[in-house]
Amino acid sequence: MRLAVIGSGYVGLVAGACFAETGNDVLCVDADSEKVARLRRNQIPIHEPGLEPMVRRNQDAGRLRFTDRLEEAVEHARVIFIAVGTPPMEDGSADLSHVLEVARNLARLIREPTIVATKSTVPVGTAARVDAVLREHGAVAVEVCANPEFLKEGAAIEDFMRPDRVIVGTEHEPTREVMRELYAPFTRQGGERLIFMDPASAEVTKYAANAMLATRISFMNQVAGYCEAVGADVHRVRQGIGADHRIGRAFLYPGPGYGGSCFPKDIRALLHSSDEHGVPMELLAAVETVNERQKRVLLEKVRRFAGPGLSEKVVAVWGLAFKAETDDVRESPALAVIQGLLEDGASVRAHDPHAMESARRVFGDRIAYADNPYEAASGADVLVVVTEWLLFRTPDFDRLGRIMRHRLIIDGRNLYEPDRLQALGFEYHGIGRRHP
Ligand code: NAD
Repeated sequence: MRLAVIGSGYVGLVAGACFAETGNDVLCVDADSEKVARLRRNQIPIHEPGLEPMVRRNQDAGRLRFTDRLEEAVEHARVIFIAVGTPPMEDGSADLSHVLEVARNLARLIREPTIVATKSTVPVGTAARVDAVLREHGAVAVEVCANPEFLKEGAAIEDFMRPDRVIVGTEHEPTREVMRELYAPFTRQGGERLIFMDPASAEVTKYAANAMLATRISFMNQVAGYCEAVGADVHRVRQGIGADHRIGRAFLYPGPGYGGSCFPKDIRALLHSSDEHGVPMELLAAVETVNERQKRVLLEKVRRFAGPGLSEKVVAVWGLAFKAETDDVRESPALAVIQGLLEDGASVRAHDPHAMESARRVFGDRIAYADNPYEAASGADVLVVVTEWLLFRTPDFDRLGRIMRHRLIIDGRNLYEPDRLQALGFEYHGIGRRHP
């Protein structure tokens, strides 16, 4: 099928590459011509496992192309996906200016029957708005459907190729038929994974899914705080509740608070939308408040255990990305920790396997960037683990013990066992762990 994807970020680039991988002829469009030029040379602007070889192989085969010209996409495609950013506005609502700009520009160009699918995360009613904009500006024979994306950064290819579900919001049967054919290679295994519904329900499904996941995180973070206060171990509690099939094991890990480009902004957008519709979601407001507080928990532990006064202290930070396997630092808990440490006058030495360049755009030379985890920890008074990279899971503790000035580890991801760390001579503090 001839497809176009507008916006070549985490979602658009992955979707474009995966659609090409299954034999479609895909044109990816991005307004950033420099990015387009780099993509044509197979230079991938983001870290996403498996993406570079997939882009290369499909470009080589001629199934995947990049352009900054929207008219080429319209000439080429029968289905056009809108996958541009929907960043947060000052008041928390989603900024739809990019989505609507694309719709206006498409309207001037579309002359053949075309399906326009909104893949960006957009508030309820946006597919209808895009439809209205298209018609208002003269597009004919266009069908708009909502097709929210559920991939996770760091596992985006895997998620797109083997999705838990694909949601398509349209009540137009011929559009359903096209989307069914397009998604068949991805949804064939494991029962019916393609779910059709009306556009509004599809749009709400995306926000509700992220809201549910964020709720689990904030819930576990509060349980962890409670465990610390009463001398229980959240690790055991997690095992205990996760064994209940009604609860399940996934997404029950306490940590330094959720971050990234989706959860924080999507929670705020849903809060804004529910307020606007007169049905405020108090539960979600609490989820966000808990998360904001949680982002300060590691900093407070550093102050409590490495203090008093951090101005003379060297703090090693392992991990800058908001989670492992991505270079994305948007709303990363590491940013909040480091910002607080700098305000306290600490010297920060950080290492992240893939997010150092992204972090450098935030902190410049206000922190030091170490080439490896041990260089970061060398001479440090405290080591703070913020991101759960595999690289940090089984460090050489003997070496760490020798090179650190003080053997103090604050572990924001509960990667290590308190008993073992104590036996190795470290003072160790996890999140909600019971200490020997
Ligand atoms: P991103 O910022 O990485 O990429 C957006 C891209 O769109 C950029 O390359 C930008 O240059 C391009 N763009 C902006 N305006 C444009 C225009 N008018 N024409 C052409 N290109 C334009 O964003 P992302 O992380 O890929 O997210 C895109 C959407 O998908 C958002 O709504 C996001 O909430 C949603 N989403 C993201 C994820 C994720 O994990 N990142 C997962 C699911 C859904």
